[in-house]
Amino acid sequence: MTYSNKKIADVAAELEKRIKTLDDKSSILRATELRALYAEIPTLPEEKRADFGKEINVLKDYLQKLVDQAQDEQEAAEPIDVTAPFDRNIPKAERPRLLSSKFGSKHPLMSELERVLAIFYRMGFTAVESRQLDDDYHMFETLNFPEGHPARDDYDTFMTSEGLVAPAHTSTMQNRVLSTYKANLEKGEAISVVIPGRVFRNEDLDARHEHTFYQLEGVYVDEGVTVGNLIATLKTFLETYFSQQLEVKTQPYYFPFTEPSFEFAISCPFCKKQGCSVCSQSGWIELLGCGLIHPNVLKMAGIDPEKYTGFAWGMGIDRMVMMKQNIEDVRHFESGKLEFLRQF
Ligand SMILES: [Zn+2]
Repeated sequence: MTYSNKKIADVAAELEKRIKTLDDKSSILRATELRALYAEIPTLPEEKRADFGKEINVLKDYLQKLVDQAQDEQEAAEPIDVTAPFDRNIPKAERPRLLSSKFGSKHPLMSELERVLAIFYRMGFTAVESRQLDDDYHMFETLNFPEGHPARDDYDTFMTSEGLVAPAHTSTMQNRVLSTYKANLEKGEAISVVIPGRVFRNEDLDARHEHTFYQLEGVYVDEGVTVGNLIATLKTFLETYFSQQLEVKTQPYYFPFTEPSFEFAISCPFCKKQGCSVCSQSGWIELLGCGLIHPNVLKMAGIDPEKYTGFAWGMGIDRMVMMKQNIEDVRHFESGKLEFLRQF
C-alpha cells in the first residue's frame, strides 16, 4: 500500500506493524494515531482536505481488511475440543448451545490465562505447564538457594510427609526448561518458554492473600541477551494485553535466582497516571518480579554463562484478573461460589 502523504504513510507503517502483536486486532481501528489524522482534517487548508481525508479512508479500509483476515485466521486456528458432544463440521449457528450459564462457563482465571498465552505464542514463546508437586532440589537448589539460605523463608509453603513440596512459585520449572531446551542454543535458536502453573503459599488468608494462586513464569536465553531485551519483551506483552501504550520502570530488588533483579512497574492503564483506586492513587502499578538469570542457575542446567545470558520473570495471574475485572477479594476465585462465577 502506498500513500502520497508522508504523515499518513508513517501512521500506516506504524499501525501495520502494531496490528501483528495486538490481541484484539479490531482495536487498531480505534488507534490514537488514526483518530489524530481525522482530527487534523479541519485544520488543513480547504483545498487539501478532500485528498487528505480520502487517503485516511484508504488506510482505514486497508486496516479493516487486515482485521477481517486476522479474525478469519483466528477462527480457523481454534483448538479442537475433543470433548465436544457434536460434530465440529456443523456450522456454529446450528450447534447445540453449551455456553449458557445453565451449563457452566470457563473459570475467569482460565480465560485470562488463555488470553495471556495467546499473546506469548504470537511472540514466539512455547508453553510448559508447571508441576503441582515438586522437590526441594527444583524449588531451591537449582535456583541458587543453597541449604540454609535465609531467602528460603520467603517461600513458606506446604510439604508432604515424604518431603515433597507444593511449589511456592513457577520458578521450580526453570532448571527443567533450561535443561530440556538448551539444544536450541546449539542450533543457534533462543530458549523462549512461558510456564503457567498453580502455586501455593502457607499464608494467613485475607482479601489479598490466598493459599493457592496462578503464576506465569517466562524464561528467555540466547547469546547477548540484556536487560534491554527483558524490558522490551515485557513492555510489548503488557501493551498488547492492555491494548494501549504504557510507560514502564524498574526498581532494584533481590531474588537469589536473578542478578540483577528488578521489580517491574507500569503506568496505570486504568487512569493514565491520574491516580485511581487500582494504583492506590500513585499512577503506577508494581506488576511483577524479573531479572537476568543468575549464572549459577544457567550452570546448574549445563549452560555456559560466559557464552549465554537470559532473563526470567514471574507474574501473578489472579492479580491481573482482579485489576482488570475490579474484583476486591482474591478468595472468590477458589471459593466455588456460583454467584461469583456466573458473572463471567
Ligand atoms: Zn490508576
